[in-house]
Amino acid sequence: MEKIDLKSLSIDELKGLFKNIGEKEYRGVQTFSFIHGNMITKISDITVLSKTLRDKLEKNYYISNLDIVERYDSKVDNTKKYLFLLEDGNIIESVVMEYNYGTTACISTQVGCRMGCAFCASTKEGLVRSLTPGEILGQVYGIQRNLDIKLSNLVLMGSGEPLDNYENVLKFLYLLHNEKGQNFSFRNITLSTCGIVPKIYKLAEEELPITLSISLHSPFDEDRKKMMPIGKVYSIDEIIKACHYYFEKTNRRITFEYTLIKNKNDRKEDLEELSRILKGLNCHINLIPLNPIREYKENKADTEVVTNFKIELEKRGINATIRKEMGSDINAACGQLRRDYISKRS
Ligand code: SAH
Repeated sequence: MEKIDLKSLSIDELKGLFKNIGEKEYRGVQTFSFIHGNMITKISDITVLSKTLRDKLEKNYYISNLDIVERYDSKVDNTKKYLFLLEDGNIIESVVMEYNYGTTACISTQVGCRMGCAFCASTKEGLVRSLTPGEILGQVYGIQRNLDIKLSNLVLMGSGEPLDNYENVLKFLYLLHNEKGQNFSFRNITLSTCGIVPKIYKLAEEELPITLSISLHSPFDEDRKKMMPIGKVYSIDEIIKACHYYFEKTNRRITFEYTLIKNKNDRKEDLEELSRILKGLNCHINLIPLNPIREYKENKADTEVVTNFKIELEKRGINATIRKEMGSDINAACGQLRRDYISKRS
């Protein structure tokens, strides 16, 4: 029998587990606090349980842990990129960025991705597999232990599509938020999606005060479909309607990511249409200069065009910021580090 990862279990599941083996239910709460509060990585470290009980647990359970295979430190700012090794030999990427308001980690939800966005390095070899709740948490705990800090913000913007791994991502959010563990505020978490509409509605029903971020990248369906295959399944109109619903349910302002690509989506007509479709929605646009990858031959928009895009959006009453380039000396696009590392290794 394959061992079960205690890190992926909720308090209720842990309580049930102890009950099933003839122990008191509160042992489940204690175990949860040790795993998530103290971020321990071995059953033998749950010192609140007797040695006999820990030995008993070891037979069928374990605590998943990610090893750091590589850490790249930027000399320009304090950005750090991690390559983590999963227990099955797969590798994932996470990034840590320092801002004046705190430290943010960008974490992955899948190994690879099946969404196929043209400009994205993470999807070039398709989806390998989804991460478990314990593995998503493993990045957060691995970083916090490694840097001896408490992260203030999290963005689910690493490799993978969070809403294509819906159940595990939701469980991860609840585990991280639980006050018996990290007590991480939902308000400081952003979930970024390419726009899987039914899952946006489903997420809205949870009424979590997390920030929903939509990777829009074009206000025109025909152009968007060429960049993002998911655009063939869900139209921009359907996405915007889902965003209105999400705002109604959660009262959280929606963020849009808009990667500016020269002569593709940085034109006046893009600006006009973008302002038109977002009218009346409480939102914010994050303008991202394209990070070039080998497989995508387009260029990033000119700096003046990016600045102008922001100014013109604001004139039309839409909040916009230009994403600051972080760690320019280790600035491989998301997913590229992992691919380079793997191809070097083999
Ligand atoms: N699958 C999710 C989250 C991961 S991607 C999503 O699609 O939102 C995080 C953000 O980075 C997305 O907005 C994505 O479109 C953008 N992105 C991916 N590759 C990029 C690149 N090479 N340059 C600029 N932005 C990129």
